[in-house]
Amino acid sequence: MNAAAILVLVVEDDPAIARFLRTGLGAQGYGVEIAGRAADALARIAAGGVDLVVLDLGLPDMDGTELILRLRGGGARMPILVLSARDTEAQKVAALDAGADDYVTKPFGIEELYARLRASQRLQLRRQGEAPVFRTGALSFDQLRREVTLAGTALHLTPKEYDLLALLVRHAGKVLTHRMILHELWAGDSDIPYLRIYIRSLRQKIEPDPARPAYLVTETGVGYRLRVIDPSGPEVPSV
Ligand code: CA
Repeated sequence: MNAAAILVLVVEDDPAIARFLRTGLGAQGYGVEIAGRAADALARIAAGGVDLVVLDLGLPDMDGTELILRLRGGGARMPILVLSARDTEAQKVAALDAGADDYVTKPFGIEELYARLRASQRLQLRRQGEAPVFRTGALSFDQLRREVTLAGTALHLTPKEYDLLALLVRHAGKVLTHRMILHELWAGDSDIPYLRIYIRSLRQKIEPDPARPAYLVTETGVGYRLRVIDPSGPEVPSV
């Protein structure tokens, strides 16, 4: 194993899935270790050197959400990506609220998993670097000047719209649950229909086509995500 490789700890009790992930992630250049139980994962992470965690929520000795709470409570900062079954929507939301960064739903495509892992790493790097201007596609957000532009044209956001976008930018690429957003923006003193009104008005301003959002996307049953699109890449939507 390359000593400089990013070390992924796969916490998964299903040997077939664990083997599949070891092979796949290894081929992508990641260092991979497997923990089949939450207790082993806690011990391994406490020993240090784990850069990313891929976590199955259904573990034999502890609920995955409980494991996340313990890790975050103990100060662990690495990205945690959750593997969840399709029928456990509520569990997935609870895991995100507990401090997971993202999720993929089983049965998942390995390419999707790689993309989510790369996004988590980018987010981690951005947190460390804290670039003053955030860009996704044609949208640019300057947090020092409090300026938002779309394809170079200044947008006029209300203070609440700005705060909502700022929150999404701080967690760009990551899914934010309804509960997190409501907690951050209204101290929890509001509800999802109210949030939807702000999402809609923000989309009217920041989306080239508000009916088909390219940046502020809905994660059904979970919340919202600000997609990170390389401004020079091929994915830039036409404006
Ligand atoms: Ca399991």
